[in-house]
Amino acid sequence: MSDARVLVVDDDEGVRRALTTTLGDAGCEVRAAADAASMRAALADWPPDLLLLDAALPDADGTQLLHELKAADATRQLPVVLLATRLPDEMTELALGLGAVDVLRKPFRARELVARVHAQLRANALLHTTQLALHGAEEELDRVREDSENQRKLVDILHEVTGDLSSDEIYHILARRVARALALSRCSVILARPGDRVGVVATAFDNPALRNYEIDLEGYPEIRAALEHGHPVLVEDLHTSPLYEDLRREWAANGMQVPIRSVIALPFTLGKVQAGVFFLRRMVNEPPLTNEDVEFADSVIKAAVAAIHRAQVIETTKADNARLEVLAHTDPLTQVLNRRALTVRLASELERARRYDSVLTLLMVDLDHFKQVNDTYGHLVGDEVLREIALLLQNEIRSVDVVARYGGEEFVVVLPETSLVGATTFAERIREHVAATPFATSLVESLRLTASVGVSSYPSTTVNSVDDLFARADEALYRAKAEGRNRVCL
Ligand code: GH3
Ligand code: MG
Ligand code: MG
Repeated sequence: MSDARVLVVDDDEGVRRALTTTLGDAGCEVRAAADAASMRAALADWPPDLLLLDAALPDADGTQLLHELKAADATRQLPVVLLATRLPDEMTELALGLGAVDVLRKPFRARELVARVHAQLRANALLHTTQLALHGAEEELDRVREDSENQRKLVDILHEVTGDLSSDEIYHILARRVARALALSRCSVILARPGDRVGVVATAFDNPALRNYEIDLEGYPEIRAALEHGHPVLVEDLHTSPLYEDLRREWAANGMQVPIRSVIALPFTLGKVQAGVFFLRRMVNEPPLTNEDVEFADSVIKAAVAAIHRAQVIETTKADNARLEVLAHTDPLTQVLNRRALTVRLASELERARRYDSVLTLLMVDLDHFKQVNDTYGHLVGDEVLREIALLLQNEIRSVDVVARYGGEEFVVVLPETSLVGATTFAERIREHVAATPFATSLVESLRLTASVGVSSYPSTTVNSVDDLFARADEALYRAKAEGRNRVCL
């Protein structure tokens, strides 16, 4: 109990001296007062841990003083031991009933006195620790309650945000949810990078018309600070914050009344591409924003931005896959279907024709003496011609037809629901068109070419599969070449 402060109040000087010595020897810090008035003064500027109070002071009655002490906030918790010369039972009961912790009879035996004072000091210290622990537990409980509430809101928000939404829609939802969760009248997303003088409003919960509106960041020191340092910036009160000193002077000079009270600027980055701040505001008639608000909004936004980022990565991967898919099916020189894709497509077309009792025709188009083109003008000119032939074929076909590059200078055209007769007419048109076209290349202005075409059709006695279709068309093409080229054969 060393250092415990004990205030002794007794009008008997002998009692004061005896108690001061005894308790001082026991390790207490002791002060003494002779009457109620000096007791009150001592309580005010030297709050003790224990009060030893004479039941009969010249200027006051002990029980009345006890009453007074227990009624005042500052001394309600102070343990009081009452000292009495005569001690009728009623006195003890009355004193304890009024809140005294103990009653001691004068004259005291030193050891008993010290033991009783120690007992009271110990009890009081224990009470103190317990009260502190209780207070701490209450605060912790509040925090946990608030945390779980925030956690719940967070889960709600992420639920809404993780759909198939664009970044713009996500910004809007986030701004709205943060605004609602924190009871904000203003919440927006401003896109800008550190050092930028101008920011763009990506979304404004309070005023959708502000979208894409450019704002001069000169008037938003918290946004500039948040972008620069990468930390949230809280301004509890615009009207006192040093950050706003210059602007306040400007407002005053222009006679402006600014109705905003608190702002928070929360920086975020989205991958490496986009950056900006969530900008939260409360008006002067609303409670100020606090650090807890910063923490909550920051955790919502961090989690959501991570979700947006994931969504963007998935979107990009999907787009890449789609591009790869197209590449895998396309001939790089002519951009028509490649041979592999043609085979797959032809199989499904044949299957459909079989199922619906329909017809299907295949044309094999081979350029005549193409080797000479390469030999005369070079491979690059040859390539240019191949691209133009592919274009010509694509312009001739219907939307259900398919053009593919089968090999070097051989193309295939698949004509679903087209009989041999109809296909032959179509093949003839192509042949004429090729022969009549002066192909423009980088070296030669008008290069003349012809093509031979072999035609095969399903159903027929000799065609029952994709391989049969190719084989019969190839045979017909061979005949066309043999018969002098620039012709169509069946
Ligand atoms: P024909 O078909 O009339 O019998 O004669 P051809 O000269 O066209 O026939 P051949 O099959 O002997 O030669 C095909 C030529 O096509 C060989 C090659 O130089 C050319 N060729 C094939 N693929 C390409 C290509 O991708 N680019 C270019 N520039 N030429 C190609
Ligand atoms: Mg050829
Ligand atoms: Mg050939």
